[in-house]
Amino acid sequence: MAGRGLLMSNPDPTLPADDRRYHRQRILPFVGAEGQRSIRSSHAMIVGVGALGCQIADLLVRAGVGTLTFIDRDVVELTNLQRQCLFTEEDAACGRPKVEAARRRLEIVNSGVRLQPVAADFCARNALQLVTQARAVAPLGVLLDGTDNFETRYLLNDLAVREGLPYVYGGAIGARAMAATFRAAAEAPCLRCVFPEAPAPGSQPTCDTAGVLGPAVSMAAAWQASMAIRLLCGNVAGEALLHDADVWEGTSRTVRMRRAPDCPCCGRRGSLEFLDAIGEGRVALCGSDAVQVWPRGGVAGMLDLKTLATRLASGGEVAATALMVRFKPAEGGLEMSLFADGRAIVKGTRDEAKARAAYAKYVGV
Ligand SMILES: [Zn+2]
Repeated sequence: MAGRGLLMSNPDPTLPADDRRYHRQRILPFVGAEGQRSIRSSHAMIVGVGALGCQIADLLVRAGVGTLTFIDRDVVELTNLQRQCLFTEEDAACGRPKVEAARRRLEIVNSGVRLQPVAADFCARNALQLVTQARAVAPLGVLLDGTDNFETRYLLNDLAVREGLPYVYGGAIGARAMAATFRAAAEAPCLRCVFPEAPAPGSQPTCDTAGVLGPAVSMAAAWQASMAIRLLCGNVAGEALLHDADVWEGTSRTVRMRRAPDCPCCGRRGSLEFLDAIGEGRVALCGSDAVQVWPRGGVAGMLDLKTLATRLASGGEVAATALMVRFKPAEGGLEMSLFADGRAIVKGTRDEAKARAAYAKYVGV
């Protein structure tokens, strides 16, 4: 009979509760009882609890990871609710920190998972310390990317290479979703073998200027969570594959990734430049109510201010001159002055992390 094979029998009521709870996952031949035990004793760390991070956290907590550490610096805003599935209108109304709102939701989804929320701005100064703290709770099996900018991704990649931790990359913009696992194994590529350099600031759309479709996020997060569960089961894929799909057009492709001998990170003369950038003068207070932000390592050539102004127009008020673009985001009460050398002055705050976050959000690196 059609579909009969899909009918699920109820598990034996005499089984322990844990076995019943994860029955549908445990009976998968590629998970099995042993894989399920591995998942239950595992520890995953998600950096960024935005669109991707919310969905990955939900999937991993339901799958029964033993411990979940999740890190984010932001508070919930109304514009997050379109795609950040752990948050509610109440979280946005009271401006609850994302990690706190996520913890409240996740602990009622699965009380058997140890949740480790960390309200922090993940950066070169604290990245190693955050991993050390997480490892003190339980050995760490995987780092998951819930971020939205290249700087943090490259930092995560440096951290993964240094610590020998698998890193699961993901990204979503517009209707496009991408994901890949970088295993930190001797012959395996790292993120920068595939994407050696960050695009010039302002040259690429960001979710805040170009928008993002909720299902594109779900696609990327589903890949990431599957890859993480597979790693945590001890079931490691042989080939390094990059998945890339457009959920609006319904198209997808898979690209085989290779290690690059001259990779700027894991190659012969490579260095962990993003992790080693501690104390670099990228951000400085500027006057009484502004912070100056520089793009990391300068910009190759000058920014095209006209293109940047056009792209920013959907995210707030823009006034452009030949030398500068002044941009007032629709929310947050900040004003940014962007210069052709990639520098920005962020007015309306003395908080360096907030200024850097606004730069990453709107300029893109
Ligand atoms: Zn590499």
